Order: sequence, then C-alpha cells, then structure tokens
Amino acid sequence: MDRNIRIAIIGAGLCGLSTALALARLGFRQIQIFERSPSLGEVGAGLTLGPNATRALIGLGLGDALQQSCDEPHAGITRHWKTGAVLMRSARGSVIREHYGAPYYQIHRADMLDILVQAIAKNSAINIKMGMGLLATEENAQGAVLIFSDRQKFSADIVIGCDGLKSSVSESLFGATAANFSGYVAWRALVPAAAFSARLEPPAQLFIGIERLFMRYLVRHGELINIVAIARAQGWDEEGWMLPSTVEELRAQYFGWHEDILHTINLVPVEQCFKWAIHVREAIPTWYTNAIVLAGDAAHPMVPFMGMGASTAIEDAVVLARALALHEDRATAFLAYQTARHTRASFIQAQSAQRGLRLMSADPDSYGAEREMSEDSLGLFAYDAFSA
Ligand SMILES: Cc1cc2nc3c(=O)[nH]c(=O)nc-3n(C[C@H](O)[C@H](O)[C@H](O)COP(=O)(O)OP(=O)(O)OC[C@H]3O[C@@H](n4cnc5c(N)ncnc54)[C@H](O)[C@@H]3O)c2cc1C
Repeated sequence: MDRNIRIAIIGAGLCGLSTALALARLGFRQIQIFERSPSLGEVGAGLTLGPNATRALIGLGLGDALQQSCDEPHAGITRHWKTGAVLMRSARGSVIREHYGAPYYQIHRADMLDILVQAIAKNSAINIKMGMGLLATEENAQGAVLIFSDRQKFSADIVIGCDGLKSSVSESLFGATAANFSGYVAWRALVPAAAFSARLEPPAQLFIGIERLFMRYLVRHGELINIVAIARAQGWDEEGWMLPSTVEELRAQYFGWHEDILHTINLVPVEQCFKWAIHVREAIPTWYTNAIVLAGDAAHPMVPFMGMGASTAIEDAVVLARALALHEDRATAFLAYQTARHTRASFIQAQSAQRGLRLMSADPDSYGAEREMSEDSLGLFAYDAFSA
C-alpha cells in the first residue's frame, strides 16, 4: 500500500503505540495517534510479556530497551492458598529463551509505556495528539472523517481503533455492545521489596484458592513486588472501573490465607491500593469496515487469567502493519489481518475465561493433578507475529 496514506490511530495505550511503531518501521510516513487523556500514563502495576510478545517487540527494535527495564524470572510457581504447598512449577528464564528463542519478561507498565514513547519520539512519521476524545466516525469513499468531543474533525485514509474495552470506534461501527461485569474484581498494587526480609523466590508466585487468587512477581529489577489479587464478587454498580480501595478491604478478601499473603497485604502502601471491576464484551465477528479496523482490547477484550491481553494486542499491531504494507487495497489488507488474527484472539479469550474458572475452582487441592492448559502448554508462546 502507498506509504503516504494518512493513518489515524485512536488510543495511545500499548496497542496504539505498538501499532504506530510497527507501521513506521514498514515505511508508513503519516501516522497520527489521538488519545483522549490529557497525558500519557499507565496504571501503577506490572505486566507479563510472554515470548510471543517479546518476539514482536524485539522485532520492532525494542530488544535492548526491554532487556534494560525488564525482570526475567527463572521460574514461576502455583501454590495452595492455605498451606502454601507448591501445586505446579513453570519453567521460565533460559528454558523459555532456549525453547522459544525469545524471553519471558515482567515489567512495570509505566516502563513499558515509556519504552514505546521513547521509540516513537525518535520517529518523525508518528505524531501524538493528547486530549482528543473520539466521538464518532463517518466513512466515505476516500476513507473516514473522525469527529472529536471538541468538534474538531480529522480525515484519514485508514482509522485503527485501539481505544480499549469501551471502544468508541467499535461503537460507531457496530453499535453499542454493552461491557458487562465479568464477576471478578482485581486489586493491584506495588509493594517495595525491601520491606520483605527475604527475596521472593522464585520471583513469580501465584496462590490459588476457592473464588480467589493472589499473584506476586518482581519488577524494576527486584525493587518492587507487583501484586494482582482477583476475587469473585457480586454485581458491580459503582461508577468507574478503577476505584480507590483500602488495605482492610483487600485483607478481608484473604482472611485465613497463607501467612506470605497476609504479610504481603500488610505491606501494601495505604495510598496505593486500587481495585478494578473486570468487564468483558461479547466477541464481535468482524473487526473492520471499509476504512476502519479494530485492534487490541477494542477488538477482543479478555479476562486476565493468562496475562495475554496486552501481548495479543502487540501481536495485532505487527500483523496489521504487515497486512497494510503487503496489500494494495484496504479491503484485502483488513481481510488478511482478520483472517490471521481472529481465530487466535478468540481462542485466547475463551481459554482465559476457562483458566479463571480452573484457577478459582472449588477444589484447589487437585489443581495441577492433570496437565494444566496454560499459555505455555497451549502453545500460545510460539506465535511469531512477523511470520503469521
Ligand atoms: C488485572 C489485569 C491484569 C492484566 N495483566 C496482563 C498481563 O500481565 N499481560 C498482558 O499481556 N495483559 C494483561 N492484562 C490485559 C492488558 O492490560 C490489556 O489487554 C491491554 O492493556 C490492552 O491494551 P489496549 O491498548 O488495547 O487498550 P487500553 O490499554 O485500554 O488503551 C486504550 C487507550 O485508548 C484511549 N481511549 C479510549 N477511548 C478513547 C476515545 N474515545 N478517544 C481517544 N482515545 C481513547 C484510552 O485512554 C487508552 O489510552 C491485564 C488486565 C487486567 C485487568
């Protein structure tokens, strides 16, 4: 496709930024990102990047930056909520590198965002406009007109909706599809590792119990312990999905759990305890129209039990850019992208939901007795977005 076409990306999250970089690396010269928030930012939490994601990011030229900012756990374990007994062990580190040819990393989300922003800042093909919330799209024969909340308009040949779960782009194309409460609430926090008497070993540990789980892993070269605590909850009718919580509220969820968990909760900084109502949306069969296409959570939001949402979004970025570079017209490129991505993304969405049910089953004692269908054993790590 002509590298001078005007491409508009809605949303400067991990998907939008990765997509812009992937397009610029393939020679596209006019890439405009519109972000609703007045400034770029990620939540104070960690992010797991499987080799499927790091392979894509390394291919975008970010290998050195990732190596400098990421932690690479040598192993991960799944433990029993009460006894702490190890139920399952997952090889990481050199085993993953040797098997998949790319690393398994954990990183502070703000650091990941920073790596992408730094790379974009060096690239004159990409421009980011902040404080631009998309209201509506109008398609025409040439492409699409974007209408923003301040009534500014912008014309583009191609629009890529990377605006997350509550995607305005998706809504303007296919009508409103309600984002429903998944039945899970997540607490996220970062705890200074220095507050612990011993280093977390192995550096990634998941505790599972009935209707609850508690994940801890190291980021910032072992300086911080990222925690993700997820519990089943009743209907969610509060305004907003990210709300301040309290350490007491979190502690109440884990009453009777292993002392490692209770100790970790005691160390959560009071001002840094937030909770998220995890929402999901019905899968949509088609991700594109004439000039507009969806990627990342806007196309396929998922519950986080495989830690694959951002990784899948990064894969989308690379495959979509390749499809646009390879094909002469939008229809063929969008179809090629969707054909390459839809089945995989839908599979990961479904597997993530099922994994949540297994991890929080009524019988944690038997977990791991059969071969667990994890992102590794399902073969998800092997995906190469540059050859798919
Ligand atoms: C508890 C939890 C843990 C997770 N852990 C992991 C993990 O370890 N590994 C992993 O791979 N994934 C993980 N995920 C999933 C991951 O966070 C998401 O899949 C990923 O952030 C999606 O990126 P995105 O860019 O598609 O969407 P988002 O991150 O939602 O970004 C969308 C962007 O679009 C902007 N926007 C929205 N509407 C508009 C508009 N109308 N106009 C302009 N801009 C707009 C937003 O402000 C935002 O910047 C986790 C999720 C949760 C809830």
